[in-house]
Amino acid sequence: MAAAIAVLALAAPLLYLTIQRDRESEPTGWNLVLVSVDTLRADHLSSYGATFIRTPHMDRLASEGVLYENVSTVAPTTLPSHASLFTGLTPVAHGVHDNVGFYLDDRLPTLAEHLKGQGYETAAFVGAFVLDSRFGLDRGFDLYDDDVEGGEEDVASGFVAQRRGAEVLESALAWIGSRGETERPFFTFVHFYDPHTPYEGSGGYRAEVAYVDSLVGQLLSFLDARGLSERTLVVLTADHGESLGEHGEATHGLFLYESTLRIPLILRYPGAPAGSRLSRPTHITGVAAEALEILRVPPMSVRREQPFYAETFLPRLHYGWSELRSLTRWPHKLVVAPKPELYDLSKDPAEAKNLIEELPAIALSLRSDLDSLVVTPVEPENVDRETLEKLKSLGYAGPTVPSTGDLPDPKDRLESYRVLNDPMIQSLRPEDGAAFGKALSDLKGVLTREPRIPRTYALYGEMLLKARRGSEAAQVFQALVALDEESFEGHYGLGVALQSLGQEGKAIEAFGSAVEIDPRNTKSYLRLSEAESARGKWDAAEGWLRRAIAVHEDRVIVDRLAQVLLQSGQSGKSAEARALLEGLAADAPNDALAAYNLGQLLLVEGEAENALVELRRAAALAQSDPDVHQALGSAFALLGRREEAVESFRRAVELAPCFAAAQANLGAAYAELARLPEAAAALEKAVSCNPNYAAGFKNLAAIQLQMGNLDRAITAMRGALRASPADPEIQKSLQELIDFQTRSSRP
Ligand SMILES: [Zn+2]
Repeated sequence: MAAAIAVLALAAPLLYLTIQRDRESEPTGWNLVLVSVDTLRADHLSSYGATFIRTPHMDRLASEGVLYENVSTVAPTTLPSHASLFTGLTPVAHGVHDNVGFYLDDRLPTLAEHLKGQGYETAAFVGAFVLDSRFGLDRGFDLYDDDVEGGEEDVASGFVAQRRGAEVLESALAWIGSRGETERPFFTFVHFYDPHTPYEGSGGYRAEVAYVDSLVGQLLSFLDARGLSERTLVVLTADHGESLGEHGEATHGLFLYESTLRIPLILRYPGAPAGSRLSRPTHITGVAAEALEILRVPPMSVRREQPFYAETFLPRLHYGWSELRSLTRWPHKLVVAPKPELYDLSKDPAEAKNLIEELPAIALSLRSDLDSLVVTPVEPENVDRETLEKLKSLGYAGPTVPSTGDLPDPKDRLESYRVLNDPMIQSLRPEDGAAFGKALSDLKGVLTREPRIPRTYALYGEMLLKARRGSEAAQVFQALVALDEESFEGHYGLGVALQSLGQEGKAIEAFGSAVEIDPRNTKSYLRLSEAESARGKWDAAEGWLRRAIAVHEDRVIVDRLAQVLLQSGQSGKSAEARALLEGLAADAPNDALAAYNLGQLLLVEGEAENALVELRRAAALAQSDPDVHQALGSAFALLGRREEAVESFRRAVELAPCFAAAQANLGAAYAELARLPEAAAALEKAVSCNPNYAAGFKNLAAIQLQMGNLDRAITAMRGALRASPADPEIQKSLQELIDFQTRSSRP
């Protein structure tokens, strides 16, 4: 390995000459394909020296382009480092310090915006919710495909919804392929999330890297087949690495070691000095400028070498431990922490020997450079008052927050970190029994040992909610609010707990505080609308959803708005609901929920034929959803297609045997086909599943009567009366049955 690096270093000066480009000439008009592989360690590519894994496609890219040997990122977390990739700024300047609670400021120019301004068509395809458009990276993209299922609720707990790379790639290639003949170049950003935990399958991290490599291969073949390789710059990089147990860290985010800071960077373009390697230190903040230079597009701003700065605020924001900041002046790297560290990366790439005592002058000089960076955390012209206030509230400035020295060093908190960061804990459910119980007691242990870690409260509270222990959960979230009254998770979790206890009024108060703390996090608005709906306050529910849409238009929210408009029962609102649902269904032909909801609406409006079209589509997309089959059965029944109705209802009850309404509908459909014993059996099941189902009992009574079972009809009607004692019609029917029995039993 050491020998290889020496050779590369020799190769570098030559390269400087070969990639000199003529700044005066016209733009190349080439396309840009920027591939960011989440969590990809540079040393896991064979072109970077890995021997335990093969990455033939990324290697091909390197053999045809330029490989940057020595590249580092700004943060071991996804959103901050992508913000740097897109803006060319460090987090100190762009202000995105964590995945949660930060949004890229609207006024900072981005690569996409810049290229769009230069006539490029732009599209992004992201693999995980953490890069959802709401966080601000979508600016400048004509299309920002962040269609990742159901992420919203789980961000606070660290679980992030993702989609497989193959889906991301398919969408990206479809977009490129659909452009047809056009003079305009395109910029496509492709984000593969797969190497991030949880690793799928048994191959672990390496298998995920190999999988993404195969996707890169497909991408390159596609570009070749379309003749695009001759006019496209392909950039392959990553947002951060993965620690894989080094320094006691399993994943990334806690520390600033090279295992998570060092990333790959390969640029391939027509006429590139094929197979060349650059060993000079390169920073992720320089990638956009480098790409623009190769495309001969004017730079976004005066190109200024950014310092080799990195930071992680994850320890501080999630655990209440000290943040870490680092500055590298090759080969020395200083990590500022309560127990500071200094490494010589040239002699000690594993960062095993802390030189802070041995090289005090170097440490001091790096420290003073780093402090000069952080004294002015944000360039004032770029940031509004609200953002500054927010930074302040998070502890970046102002005298009210304890200084770094007062907070524990994350290095000393690895044991708690392991408990709190165990990916198992987040996926455990009460059904897991002993494991769930152990996780609860582990969390309680951390809470007792270290009562100042926000994340413990959030995780513990969420587990209590899963266990339906709402009042304990409320106490835990209340304690989190007491610890940090600006805690979004605290107020939000408290609201959820109170909601689960039926205390809608208090829940609304808690969600209101969450909105004040983070007005751009739409999940509070969804909860507020739920709580208001539960109180029958449809106008308020509608108002919250409209506010949410103003913040960020999202399919889930639009769908919910349609539901609220329908439920409010006000005439005039159903037209808007219908328009919204039709819009959703038209936008995303593969969205089962949209098709289902539109189908339901059409059913209610009596348009059974149209409903059938939507519901069939929904059933094809969500084959194991009993609600969809139940609705589909209703559409068939309305159209008099009884056999098909029976089929659909049967499918629904196969999937959910105690789905009482579907059982009852199945009974009714059998009855229409004169299959009375089967009708009776289905209705029996319906009322045994739901003993309060008066209509089910009444239908059962009618069937039993038709079958000549007077006793059973009376039993069923008595059931109906138990379910609905004050219903005069049931009282009357029961009396008639009893009278009839009395008359017929007389000799
Ligand atoms: Zn990431």
